Amino acid sequence: MSRDGRERAAGRTAGAAERALGARGPSPLQEIEDERFARHGVRLLLKRDDLLHPEIPGNKWRKLVPNLDAALAGGRAPALLTFGGAWSHHLRATAAAGRLLGLATIGVVRGEELARRPLNDSLARCAADGMRLHFVSRAAYRDRHRPGFAGRLRAELAPDEEVYVVPEGGSNAPAVHGCAALGRELDAASPPLRPHVAAVPCGTGGTLAGLAAGLGPDQSALGIPVLRGHFLAAEVSRLQREAYGAPRGDWRLDERFHHGGYARTPPELTGFAEDFAARHGVPVPEPVYVAKLLWALTALTAEGAFPRGTVLAAVITG
Ligand SMILES: *Cc1c(COP(=O)(O)O)cnc(C)c1O
Repeated sequence: MSRDGRERAAGRTAGAAERALGARGPSPLQEIEDERFARHGVRLLLKRDDLLHPEIPGNKWRKLVPNLDAALAGGRAPALLTFGGAWSHHLRATAAAGRLLGLATIGVVRGEELARRPLNDSLARCAADGMRLHFVSRAAYRDRHRPGFAGRLRAELAPDEEVYVVPEGGSNAPAVHGCAALGRELDAASPPLRPHVAAVPCGTGGTLAGLAAGLGPDQSALGIPVLRGHFLAAEVSRLQREAYGAPRGDWRLDERFHHGGYARTPPELTGFAEDFAARHGVPVPEPVYVAKLLWALTALTAEGAFPRGTVLAAVITG
């Protein structure tokens, strides 16, 4: 089937944002020969979502595009208001999308103290893309899920503008629908490259919620949280209810591989990532999420978590 045919079959057509940013096909699915998996009869595939767009990579592309389509609906051109930490990939992707689409962007950043320091590389790129940065205290940021939080910021920061609010990490119902396309691509893959298990690293859980919803009934999704704490399962369920009204698909979490928490990248993890890149001639895995995913899959395979014959896809989310 052609890409258009597949998209129609999946009830999906490229919207205004996707056309303006350059429509992207299904991301490549690439088999890796790695004896740490082969020894256990497991075939490892990399789903290269990192190649989806040069400036809006991976799951940020999948989550943002449906939000941008909603923002642009009816010929509107609102400012995009969103939230994140000082190194947030989501803020960076939103700033880049705003520049590419000609939309104003406002980034609310956790950490008041950052306002008094030089911008880090990530925030400097946001600013260079035209994002207006607004720093809030950690205490104020903790309220970001409360009703009224976004509204108050909007009134304060953009009183005279039309504003489209994208939640933290870009995770909301449209984002879940966007990530379901990732699951559908993996469902549509032809054997022997059709995975039994598709694994993703998780921050806010939106990618896992959509992936699980898009997979076939005989496939399952595995999420590897990179943050500490046990909030994520409830959050994935909430996002699926918001998107579909009910839970969808077969998914589970393994919470043992956060390596101390978000942005903790101990030397054994970075060493593992560099070795993985050297072995397979792929870019060094992104350290905060993707390296933890590949580490987790290597450890789980060594533990015998996957039966012989399992085809395992690691989603390279960025
Ligand atoms: C943002 C991000 C994630 C987390 O996605 P969620 O949908 O928030 O769980 C995973 N991997 C990469 C590379 C990211 O930038």
